[in-house]
Amino acid sequence: MRRERVYLGLGTNSGNKQDNLQRAIEALSLALGLPAACSSFMESEPWGFESKNSFLNCVVAFDTHLSPIELLNTTEEIERRLGRTKKSIGGQYSDRTIDIDILFYGNKLIKSERLTVPHPLLHLRNFVLQPLHEIAPQLTHPTMGRTISELLALLPE
Ligand code: ADP
Ligand code: MG
Repeated sequence: MRRERVYLGLGTNSGNKQDNLQRAIEALSLALGLPAACSSFMESEPWGFESKNSFLNCVVAFDTHLSPIELLNTTEEIERRLGRTKKSIGGQYSDRTIDIDILFYGNKLIKSERLTVPHPLLHLRNFVLQPLHEIAPQLTHPTMGRTISELLALLPE
């Protein structure tokens, strides 16, 4: 079956963050197979909400035969298993054990009730672009027509 290259953005800002990312990557590897690439872990300040807890972020690439919705079911089930209880509601962010976002699913454009891909905010977030740049600098955003390298250079400081 055809596999698609997917990029997942991981973030955590509570508990043992190093551990949370590691456990999420292990759980994803069990479900999806070994990662094609994994960035280093990067510390970042909370984005879009106030919290005293900084984040630890990374980006992981997999080649998967799961459909986009199957992939979302898998990542949500791992979020639940690793102890995430609250969903962000109405753009209200909150502290979380682990957040897994689907950044890219091959070159596919998806807009459904549960899923928007490419992730609509990825080009605005240093904590996504920086780790993504480590593993895929020449990846081209399918609607913006720019590489990750270019998007990172365009980020206002
Ligand atoms: P956030 O990631 O913004 O902190 P959540 O992780 O709680 O918020 O996700 C909120 C909703 O976003 C989920 O119910 C999910 O269906 C939806 N969603 C839309 N697009 C994506 C995507 N590309 N990756 C992950 N979730 C997405
Ligand atoms: Mg999320």
